[in-house]
Amino acid sequence: MPNPLEEILKQKIRKDGPVDIATFMTLALTHPEHGYYIKRDPLGQGGDFTTAPEISQMFGELIGAWLADMWFKFDTPKSISLIECGPGRGTLMSDILRATRHIGGFHDALQVHMVEAGTILREKQKQILKDYTFISWQESLETIDPGQGQTLIVCNEFLDALPIRQLSQRQGEWLERKIGLDHNNALTFVFETAEKDLLEYLPTITSANSVYEISPASIDFVKTCSAKLKENGGAALFIDYGYEKRASGDTLQAVQAHKYADILKDIGNNDLTAHVDFEAIIQAADDAGAKTFGIVPQGEFLKRLGIIERAEKLQNSPKADKAALRSQLHRLTAPQEMGTLFKVTGFGYDDKNIKPAGF
Ligand code: SAH
Repeated sequence: MPNPLEEILKQKIRKDGPVDIATFMTLALTHPEHGYYIKRDPLGQGGDFTTAPEISQMFGELIGAWLADMWFKFDTPKSISLIECGPGRGTLMSDILRATRHIGGFHDALQVHMVEAGTILREKQKQILKDYTFISWQESLETIDPGQGQTLIVCNEFLDALPIRQLSQRQGEWLERKIGLDHNNALTFVFETAEKDLLEYLPTITSANSVYEISPASIDFVKTCSAKLKENGGAALFIDYGYEKRASGDTLQAVQAHKYADILKDIGNNDLTAHVDFEAIIQAADDAGAKTFGIVPQGEFLKRLGIIERAEKLQNSPKADKAALRSQLHRLTAPQEMGTLFKVTGFGYDDKNIKPAGF
């Protein structure tokens, strides 16, 4: 059977010419009928990839502690919105809420908003979170009413799914890497002259012949987050994999069943991601007037929040699977695992010069 997204893409190319990578990613990941995230649960052992909340409950517990700590730092407001973008199976939110349920007044103040594109994942989230009455599901961040109090935003492995574009300077001219058709009518990468307004997203210093990834969609997302946080104050926390300093390189990748796959094959059945350019994210937040918290490797961040002590506590419980807990701690924090490649950043608005934990 022909791949429906490949057919849609080819038709579009025949009509309008080569498409940029952002258009391709949007189609492959979130096409309303055939998009990768729309009608599947891609997570876990039997799926395509695994994430920190799926590896260990400790991850969500510590993020929960971070969020509750921010609530205290805001002087325990009576109302606070917590927004999660791209919540996967709802595991992170479930661990956040379980870990914070005994903090007096916190859950009474909470309004939780989940922003999820996928229908199957949304159903899983509703199932795992069914005991909580203060959660709603939203189509997009834009439409969320931040309410009376501060807003907290949390995103784990969301930014890496936002579309990127690729630019390269050849013989003095900036070109964009796009997807077109070869003479056999097969999809292939091509270069076309880049639109001038894309160049403003590039780092200030660039070298010829290298590929630079830019993500106007991520910058727009940061701007939307900033606008939300500005209304009543608040903070955003992003955890993802990527680089701290802007760098050149093609990091677009397709993953299926925990293995790399061909980007242009089996479209809509592979996860497509790119490294997050944390410097560009921080710069965009700074440009929007937010206070930025810096960039900390995930391993370091979790240790500062007390993951070693938490693992010891769990290991001391009579039914603990000690080897499993040791392995989880290792995967989340070791430099050769997620400890260094994954990074944590954040930004916020407040008038008390709050210092968030972990940074
Ligand atoms: N945060 C989860 C899942 C990460 S996978 C975890 O750590 O386990 C990426 C998540 O973002 C999925 O839930 C996916 O459906 C969602 N997503 C991807 N693109 C999206 C978009 N444009 N709008 C809303 N959700 C999106």
